[in-house]
Amino acid sequence: MDKNIVVAIDGYSSCGKSTLAKALAKKLHFIYIDSGAMYRAVTLYFLRNNIDLKDSAQVAAALKNVHLNFHSRDYQTHILLNDEEVSDEIRLMPVSENVSNVAALHDVRIEMVRQQQRMGKSKNIIMDGRDIGTVVFPHAQVKLFMTADPNVRAQRRYKEVILKEPHITLEEVFESLAHRDYQDTTRAESPLIRAHEAIILDNTNLTPEEQLAFAASKVEPFLK
Ligand code: C5P
Repeated sequence: MDKNIVVAIDGYSSCGKSTLAKALAKKLHFIYIDSGAMYRAVTLYFLRNNIDLKDSAQVAAALKNVHLNFHSRDYQTHILLNDEEVSDEIRLMPVSENVSNVAALHDVRIEMVRQQQRMGKSKNIIMDGRDIGTVVFPHAQVKLFMTADPNVRAQRRYKEVILKEPHITLEEVFESLAHRDYQDTTRAESPLIRAHEAIILDNTNLTPEEQLAFAASKVEPFLK
């Protein structure tokens, strides 16, 4: 039976949070929830419907029309926006460029946090994002704060992005990540900060296997 163990993984953009979270979920048989995908799906909806982010009444009304659902197959996250599979589209640059502006809005955060907390009730979950250990699950049993060298992060992200958007340069990816980190760490509402009890995990020089072993060793004591 699930003990309602929550593993909160926060950190900068493209540090490999979701890679670690998925691997850990698979190893420990936890449910994985990608909170960033939720902010990305809301952003896609706002872009498609030309929502004016400065108009809070428009934002609140639009949020009521956003229905998100997750499907997990082989520990890959599939997100549905009003029943449409948008998992690929939310990773493209138009969404990446705008998501931090959308995620800074009070009403958007209130609604996403409400849904995230509901998903974490009475289950063993791993959730990654920016405010999971500080705001969404301040009582999480395990909190990890991930970081990596910005150049290494840009290289990793670039390798993924050029497969779908071949015109993008490494410099553009680097700038986009730096800008998103700046927005996420300096926003007024739930900025990305390390919860003081969170364990720092710098994976610049770690293999995926090494970081998985490290993270699992922090969770396993709670399973006994
Ligand atoms: O994790 P990912 O890079 O997909 O997240 C996209 C964006 O969503 C972040 O840059 C951040 O602006 C926002 N986000 C957030 N809080 C979370 C998860 C993501 O503000 N818990």
